[in-house]
Amino acid sequence: MTQRTIAYFSMEVGIKAEMPTYSGGLGVLAGDTIRSAADLKVPMIAITLLHRKGYFHQHLDASGWQREKPVDWVVENFLKEMPARASVNMEGRTVHLRAWQYEVIGNLGFKVPVYFLDANLPENSEWDRTLTDFLYGGDQHYRLCQEVILGIGGVRMLRALGYENIQRFHTNEGHASLLTLELLDEEANKAGRQSITHDDVEAVRKKCVFTTHTPVPAGHDKFPLDLVHRMLGRREVYDMREVFCCEGVLNMTFLALNLSHYVNGGAKKHGEVSQLMFARYAIDSITNGVHAFTWVAEPFQELFDRYIWGWEQDNFSLRYALNIPKPEIWQAHIQAKQRLLQYVNDKTGVGMDAEVLTIGFARRAATYKRANLLFTDLERLKSMATNAGLIQLLYAGKAHPQDHGGKEIIQRIFRAKEGLKPNIKMAYLENYDMEVGKLITAGVDVWLNTPQPPNEASGTSGMKAALNGVPSLSVLDGWWIEGHIEGVTGWSIGENGRGIVEDHDWSKDAASLYDKLEHVILPMFYRDRDRFIEVMRHAIALNGSFFNTQRMVQQYVLNAYFR
Ligand SMILES: *Cc1c(COP(=O)(O)O)cnc(C)c1O
Repeated sequence: MTQRTIAYFSMEVGIKAEMPTYSGGLGVLAGDTIRSAADLKVPMIAITLLHRKGYFHQHLDASGWQREKPVDWVVENFLKEMPARASVNMEGRTVHLRAWQYEVIGNLGFKVPVYFLDANLPENSEWDRTLTDFLYGGDQHYRLCQEVILGIGGVRMLRALGYENIQRFHTNEGHASLLTLELLDEEANKAGRQSITHDDVEAVRKKCVFTTHTPVPAGHDKFPLDLVHRMLGRREVYDMREVFCCEGVLNMTFLALNLSHYVNGGAKKHGEVSQLMFARYAIDSITNGVHAFTWVAEPFQELFDRYIWGWEQDNFSLRYALNIPKPEIWQAHIQAKQRLLQYVNDKTGVGMDAEVLTIGFARRAATYKRANLLFTDLERLKSMATNAGLIQLLYAGKAHPQDHGGKEIIQRIFRAKEGLKPNIKMAYLENYDMEVGKLITAGVDVWLNTPQPPNEASGTSGMKAALNGVPSLSVLDGWWIEGHIEGVTGWSIGENGRGIVEDHDWSKDAASLYDKLEHVILPMFYRDRDRFIEVMRHAIALNGSFFNTQRMVQQYVLNAYFR
């Protein structure tokens, strides 16, 4: 055990659809990172919380309003309980923790253990036992309790499990920032001191790596210092301003920034935007990716096995997809599409047709993602379906239970279904999870993405699509600025988003979206299939070969972990 040197901390980790331990992109990225670390034999371990009740199960009622149910899952069926115990002190009492282990096995058999922290122990009070139940549930106080468990409890659990030689602590988003406080205490203890000094701060900085994942303010946790002080009972939060800082609040992002020697954003543009937000710090970028083997649908796995020897072990070799004959690309795609449409038709009875251009959109229903941009002008959409070629639409995505605005967006999309009849068939799939994600990103013909720049830090579902030969039609934000070559890997909505000042207004972007669909994509799909498949092939060769976590983890190892 002692040879493990990198500890990866994440509030959510997406292992598989049946384990509701993730909510969306951040958790799926964490899972993909761990899967690629295992493939590459990176000596990593991962820490997260158990989320016994999950995020939630999404149901849409007859009016399209989202209803949430806690998820019941049998932890023992997936995870192994470890004998080790740890505890944290909060509000003057002790909360005991155990850990459950899942081993992610790489394609060469190397294992990366993931530990899920669990407060549901008989020694804890009724309330404390619920602290690892709900991912992003409860109020600010509940959230801080969870972050104490993840950060401080996480480090203590690693020690209890016997991991003494960890050299790098990677904080995936700010939720685990309190791990720095535990590391500061360890340094002080080692030196036989009660209080933290600047030497300790320097020693901890050398060990920590921080990745920020969103420019949206709600994504950066802030807690009132009084609450933090009550929780932890420590004077330092007031005294060490250069570490805990700022106007009466503890900002978890700044805590991680102050105590990390390497900080990065999730795509080049996001690195630049973060550099402007946090001007005092040096911020690099490592562009996100997805775990290729996890997200490539079976028909394409078989195709790659036949034409690209060793693609799974060496994702860069997907560039050779340029040599795969076009009819075979199309054949694999049709199989993936039929699987998806079978699922859709079984679930919804909408009767979708594999001959029809199918557009997919699935992501968290956050307002900035502008999921309903496509419905700005229903009449125009309907008339182009009649004149330029038939269209089918597939939507999916959850809104956070407390995000009323997000639920309204879902409902508006759900209701657009009626207005689109009879020209355009549409379905909103319930309970978007990794399984639905895999089906939908592989099975549609075009992947749509409409964020309000510069809010999309990276985005990863378009990368899953690319690996399956599905081109994106996307606003130039996040990863698409890097992945987009017009008419070669897909298409842009609006103009180049490289500038930091953005003029993406809703109606201009909607007009651009309609123009591309009507004048470029529909004609190519229906009347120049050969060229369309050429775009599909370039999506695999240029983007699938690069926007994967194998390349990403290699960059973390070289640029972040061992620097
Ligand atoms: C890939 C994935 C996401 C992330 O998608 P983005 O494009 O980054 O928003 C979210 N949820 C699920 C279930 C996924 O599979």
